Order: sequence, then C-alpha cells, then structure tokens
Amino acid sequence: MIIVMRAGAPEEQLQDVIRKVKELGYQPHVIRGAQRNVVGAVGDERGKARLQSLESMPGVESVVPILQPFKLASREVKPEKTIVRVGDLAIGGESLTIIAGPCSVESESQLMETALAVKEAGAHILRGGAFKPRTSPYAFQGLEEEGLKLLAQAREATGLHIVTEVINPRDVELVGRYADILQVGARNVQNFALLRALGEAKKPVLLKRGMATTIKEYLMSAEYILSEGNYQVILCERGIRTFETETRFTLDLNAVPVLLKLTHLPVLVDPSHGTGHWEYVAPMAKAAVAAGADGLMIEVHMKPEEAFSDGVQSLKPKRFLSLMQELKPLAAAVGRKV
Ligand code: PEP
Ligand code: MN
Repeated sequence: MIIVMRAGAPEEQLQDVIRKVKELGYQPHVIRGAQRNVVGAVGDERGKARLQSLESMPGVESVVPILQPFKLASREVKPEKTIVRVGDLAIGGESLTIIAGPCSVESESQLMETALAVKEAGAHILRGGAFKPRTSPYAFQGLEEEGLKLLAQAREATGLHIVTEVINPRDVELVGRYADILQVGARNVQNFALLRALGEAKKPVLLKRGMATTIKEYLMSAEYILSEGNYQVILCERGIRTFETETRFTLDLNAVPVLLKLTHLPVLVDPSHGTGHWEYVAPMAKAAVAAGADGLMIEVHMKPEEAFSDGVQSLKPKRFLSLMQELKPLAAAVGRKV
C-alpha cells in the first residue's frame, strides 16, 4: 500500500504514520518527492486492508494499493525519476552516463592505458571485472583483490569512478571497499542472497538484466535490493537469448521505454554484450540513446585481439572516441547531453 501524505504535511505527521505502519507489522519506505512525501508500506499482502485505517490519520491524503508486484521499484510509488548520485555524477539525470573499460582487469598497464584513453574520450565511469563469472571453470576468473587494487589506482590517476562486478555475497564488503558502484551480472540477476546482501550495502548497485529474465522478473530482482533499504539501483539492459545466432544476444531495446514507463530507476544499455561484436556496438549504442536510455556501458580494450575475455565485442579507443563524438548530436536531438 502507498500512504500518500498531503502536500506540506509536517514531519511529525509523517513520523506518526511511519510508527503506525511499523505497529501494523509492515516495513515503511519513505519516498520524499518534490510535491509530497509518500510512505510505501511493504509486507504481507494478506493483511493490507488494515493499512486502510491510516486514511484517517492527520496529514494523510489517501491510502492506495500498489498494483504492480514490484512495489518500491514502480512508478506508482514514485512517479519522479530516481537520480543515483556518484560523486559529481547524476545517473538518470539530463546528462547521459557513459561507462567504459575492459571486460576484465588484466594488468596494471592494460587497465591504466585504457582508463586514460576512455577518460580522454569523455567517459565518466571506468568498468573492469576483477571477479569474472565465466561459463567455463577453466577460463580466466579475474585478478580478484589484485584487480580491485588496480581499479582503485586507475581511479586515483584519472578521477573516473569505478564499477566492478561482485559475484558472491561474501565478497560484497571487499568489493565495496574499492568500487563506487557494485555490478550484478546477468548470470546473478536472480541470486537472491547476493541481491539481499547488496540491499544492505550502502553503495549504488548496477543490476544487469539476465539473459532469460522477463522485464517483470528483472524488476522483482531490483525490488530485492530496494526492499532491504538500498534505493540506489541502476538498471542495465544487456541483451537476451532468442533463436537468433548471428549476434551473441538480442539487444532488447524495447526494454528501454518499457522500463522507463514501469520504474523510476535509471536505465542503461550495454550494446557490447548485447551484440557480441564490435562492429554492431556503435549503431546499437546510438539506437539505445534514441530509445531514451540514461547511459551506456561499453567495453573498450587497447588490443582487443589479446583480451583475456570479450575481445571480439571490445572497441579500440579510437573507435570509442568516434562513437562519443557521434553521440553528441544524437543526444541533443532527444534532449540529453553527453
Ligand atoms: C560484464 O559486464 O563483463 C559481464 C560479464 O556482463 P553480463 O553480466 O551482462 O554478461
Ligand atoms: Mn564482458
């Protein structure tokens, strides 16, 4: 249920409502809006009629059910877009957020050179996996903490913020010590123990769509993080499995306007994994911006042919720079800045 407070209702009335929600055995989530505040009361669906009595409390305008199964992620509970702040960045705001970097952190020189190149081209956040979720147990699994240290070093040198993947709930604390944003990969989108652990973390989370998750299931995964009290969730469409084999995945750009309608959370697009081939990355990156995405995640490697992972889909820095330039007029045409 959503308890909608009257515009200008004083803080004490809001606190009284919060107390009452707890008394009734529900978890209150306060969403502060520009016009009015609302309290999302989340918990057992069966007793929700009892919450209706809050309608008579001072300062309460109405008590309405949240129809979507993803409660806190829905636009019903929060019509205004969420802006996730990372340093000076406003992810989900007017400016597009560009994340770029290698698939995996491989060495100090590889990461540092790539970081400097993507920074020069105008990227805002450096990506790079230190813990890699690989299909084969025999494939390169990442440099782990050593990789995290290299990422922190690259942040120091470039001023770029860092996003890196966490694949295990027991590593959330470790990865959180180094990263500015914690990434959940496609393969872990329904690892509910990981999602809950990230819900308790105080860091923004970049949650990738699974290759076989519907949009509704995807938003339910976001809900796991939100329901634990971490509202800093960024979504990222990265392609789904279809019958098509010419591309690695099918980049579902339908998901962009659908997600933007259903949720207030920022929506990014990853055309690197979404296509699996560098030649298709730029056209689909542009299509994503045209579709309304809040930003992009793009794999960039100095020498893609030598990359430990995902070389085929990685752009060389020069191509990444051209893409960044080509995005400018396109972003302006849809009312965004790069
Ligand atoms: C990645 O970002 O390198 C990655 C493993 O992506 P995904 O989880 O989308 O496959
Ligand atoms: Mn990759």
